[in-house]
Formats: sequence, structure tokens, C-alpha cells
Amino acid sequence: TAHLDAIAALNPRVNAYITVTPEVALAQAAAADAALSKGEAGPLTGIPLAVKDLFCTAGTRTTAASKILGDFKPPYESTVTSQLLRDGAVFLGKANLDEFAMGSSNESSAFGGVENPWKRQGDDAVLVPGGSSGGSAAAVAARLALGATATDTGGSIRQPAAFCGIVGIKPTYGRCSRFGIVAYASSLDQAGPVARTVEDCAILLNSMAGFDPKDSTSADRAVPDFAAAVARGVKGLRIGIPREYRVEGLSPEIDALWRKGMEWLKAEGATLVDISLPHTKYALPTYYIVAPAEASSNLARYDGVRFGIREEGADLKDLYERSRAAGFGAEVKRRILIGTYVLSAGYYDAYYVKAQQVRALIKRDFDQAWGQVDAILTPATPTAAFGRDETQDDPVAMYLNDVFTITANLAGIPGMSVPAGLDARGLPLGLQILGRPFDEETVFAVGGAIE
Ligand code: GLN
Repeated sequence: TAHLDAIAALNPRVNAYITVTPEVALAQAAAADAALSKGEAGPLTGIPLAVKDLFCTAGTRTTAASKILGDFKPPYESTVTSQLLRDGAVFLGKANLDEFAMGSSNESSAFGGVENPWKRQGDDAVLVPGGSSGGSAAAVAARLALGATATDTGGSIRQPAAFCGIVGIKPTYGRCSRFGIVAYASSLDQAGPVARTVEDCAILLNSMAGFDPKDSTSADRAVPDFAAAVARGVKGLRIGIPREYRVEGLSPEIDALWRKGMEWLKAEGATLVDISLPHTKYALPTYYIVAPAEASSNLARYDGVRFGIREEGADLKDLYERSRAAGFGAEVKRRILIGTYVLSAGYYDAYYVKAQQVRALIKRDFDQAWGQVDAILTPATPTAAFGRDETQDDPVAMYLNDVFTITANLAGIPGMSVPAGLDARGLPLGLQILGRPFDEETVFAVGGAIE
């Protein structure tokens, strides 16, 4: 009830939720009470969460922050959310995001932008929460949920977590089932939690993760006790510092934060190792070929016939065109155009195949690094949260936000963003920890040490 009251008071401004579901929350809370009184509490009994509106929730409208899905109410529950419910969680509502999870600022939502609860000293500008999981991150930062589900295709868990001063982890590709999550780029998409502490993220991930036969890329691996790893410490760990992440134009503040993180880990008994990930500079162009290519294919299903809104047309093709023209926003259309272009006959080899080859080299860089180090430390983002509309007219400037985060998606490895300090104007900054495939435990241990 306290959370629902806070949402009623603050959500009109923050806009972190697209849909608030008090009836669902109160019924689940009553069930939690009953479970508690019978001594049958699960690991999340009664814990109020926000669910990114990309996860299908049975009977509750799921929008992907797009007009095209209309009033779509899924007849089934995503695997990740059904596991959270199994463990006793309470769902407060569906969190805002960039349309179809495409963006880094939450400005492309058809339901309006999300406001970052943080303000920078010296002006009153509305700041973006990051994206695409900006509603999830802002809800947690503004105390409108104790935690939230999120997804990360190129940084969408870690970048908004950094912008909102909270913790977020993208696990290894395959750790969480993608069943019932609206697809953006299927070979990159991963679900994960955002929460206020590293331990909260660990508890949530323990519930969200696990093999699912309904997702052919889900990994059939035991889920370790992530929460137990948080306090493990970093003594004896080798932490890689990749020289290619000292990118041109890196702000002195972010650089100083990175050095501070190195000092903390050294003081806790870790050894720092200079490493090289030589193909890092190709990650951004590679991602912005692979992700739109997969998106253009995934989004072909929104044709005005099977889901959501329908615009009548003179014939079937006209109906498709009118429905898609009316239903998709500008950024989604841009991605579909880029994606169909790089997949088209004549360009496929030059762009798509080349990008897949470079992706393999980026992954190989990491494979080689794991021979030298146990985890890697980098900044999470090149800047702190920026003002709304600041990069609106420049999609490429927006894409640069992902420079530190997308390599983890291309390589399939786990990555966490953990708050590590404030910039000169009082805004939160995050550090990123990358780990070996399926070694989230070490990532949690390093995150716990930094926190
Ligand atoms: N900003 C990136 C994009 O727009 C990442 C989004 C995401 O991780 N879902 O594609």
C-alpha cells in the first residue's frame, strides 16, 4: 500500500509506470500475507516489484511502449515473471521503456518520457533516466518499487542503473529465459534485475534465472547462490583494466572514478592487470548492424493482423503499410530501415556477414583476456545523465552512450553497473564489472566490494 500511495503521488511526474495494477498487487500481497502466516514464505514473498513492459504478464496489458500493440493482453506469462511470482513477488505495474527497448534515454516511448528522479546542482533541467529500462530504474531510484525486471540488448540495464544511481546486472546470455519477453534482437537480448543494492540484485537474479525448455537458447546450467557470492571479497582476484576503454573524449571525471575503483579493489587485495581488447573500437558499428538486422526481422510480425492496432487499407499490403506507419515511432522505423537494408541482397555480405565476423573477433578478445584475469573493470557510461531533448536530433550521439556496454552483449558475457560516486554536479556515476560467461558470482563479489 505504501508503494501504491507513492506511485499515485509521484508517477504523474516521473512517468516510470505505463500501467499501474493496484488490484493485482493487493491480491498478490494478500496471498503473501497468507503464505507468511502459514510459515510458507518464499525468497520474495511480499516484495513489491515493477515489471518492464516488455515482459508478457497474463491478463495485464503489455505494450513494449509502442502504439502498435494497442491493448494487447497476453494470454500467458513470461518465464522470468512467472518465476518471480512462484517465489512470492508482488507486481505493482508495468514500467516504461524506450519503444521496443530501442534507445538510451527513454525518450522514444509512445507513453511519454520518464523523468530521472535526480537533479543536477545549478539547474532544474529534467534529466533522462537512461534507457531502455528507464522506467524500471527510475521506479527503483524514486522508491516506487523495491526492485524491477529489466532487459539489456546493448546496455539497457546497466546504463539506466548508472544514470539513476542504482545497481543492475545483465547476466550471461542464456542465463534467463527469453520466453514471453517481446523480442528486440534475439541473439543479444537478456533479462536481468535492477535494485538498490548488489545483494538485492543477487536475490532477484536467483529467482529470475534458470533453464527453460521454451527458449532454445536458454542454458541448461545450475543456478548458483548469487547472494552468497556478494560478500566473498576480491582477495587474490585479477582485475583487468582494458586500455581500449580509455576512449577519446572520456571525461576527466569518469576517468577519475575509474581510477578510484581500481584503488578500492587493490586495497581489498585484488591485483590489477593491464589488458588489451583490440577490437573494442568496432563494437559500436557492429552492434548497430546486428541489432537492427534482428529487430527488422522480429518486428515483421506487427502487421496489423495478428496483434494490436489495425488501420484499414485498400488491400492487404496497404493494410500492413498503414498499420505499421501508424503504430511504430520514428526510432523503431529507423531501425527497421537500417535492418532491412543491411540484410538485403547485395548488401548482406558487405554489412551483415562482416558484422558477424567482427562480432566473433570481439568475443575472441574476451576469451583471450580470461586467460589473464578473472573480471574486468570499466566505466559504465561515458557521461552522467543528460537533459531531455539534448540528443534528440542526433541518433549517432545517442548511440555513443552504449560504447562501454555493448561489447558484453556481443560477447554474451555478464556485466554489472554499480554506483561508485557523484560527478561535480551531484549526479550518480557507475562502474561496470564484466565477467566470464556463467561466472556472475565473481561479478557479484567485485560489485559487493565496490559498493
Ligand atoms: N541503446 C541501445 C539500443 O538502442 C541498447 C538498448 C537495449 O539494450 N535494449 O539499441
